[in-house]
Amino acid sequence: RFIAFEGGEGTGKSTQSRLLTDALTSRGIAVALTREPGGTPGAEAIRKLLLAPPGEGWTPEAEALLFAAARADHVARLIRPALDAGRWVVCDRFVDSSRAYQGDASALGDDRVRQLHAIGSDGLLPDITLVFTVSDEHAAARLKARDGGASDAIGGRAAEYHAAVGAAFHAFASAEPERFRVIDGEGSVQQVHARVMAALAPMIEA
Ligand code: C5P
Repeated sequence: RFIAFEGGEGTGKSTQSRLLTDALTSRGIAVALTREPGGTPGAEAIRKLLLAPPGEGWTPEAEALLFAAARADHVARLIRPALDAGRWVVCDRFVDSSRAYQGDASALGDDRVRQLHAIGSDGLLPDITLVFTVSDEHAAARLKARDGGASDAIGGRAAEYHAAVGAAFHAFASAEPERFRVIDGEGSVQQVHARVMAALAPMIEA
């Protein structure tokens, strides 16, 4: 089983992906917890290029190719082998982040981002993609608490960009309700965790 966590920054998905991994592990399920961009040495090396771009920055096309290259390495070397070995994979961000950030918000377009994914990663999709939503004020407050306001946003992007990203995730979820579950990310960590477990109950109990 392959479960992806998606959402804007400060929506709590990293904390929740760890809690889910612990909960699955305590049920005797073998789980690989991983993240994007990254997860393998090659993909982590590409992550560094993305987080510290050259002075003139990456063009949208080059950035999308770097994300797709990182994902190709991650899928081939970690995700596929884990799934083939019968392990579950919990991934903090996957292709829908590229669709939201490089496709929609950077205006490269959804079709081209999907084509890159088809070439690089054989179009692998999660069984379930959880989208975490919080109000813009809530996300801003969480980010401020996390790093004193200095966001790790790639390219240092503005509030409208993040609103566009949130809207993109909502649109993906409406278009593909079988694959997506929208999780309200507001409330305590344990409340949100309970929502995650409820959303995944059919898969866990199957
Ligand atoms: O929230 P997280 O720490 O996972 O995000 C890291 C950064 O990477 C975010 O600032 C997000 O804007 C960016 N990102 C991106 N395109 C992706 C994945 C992440 O721009 N495909």
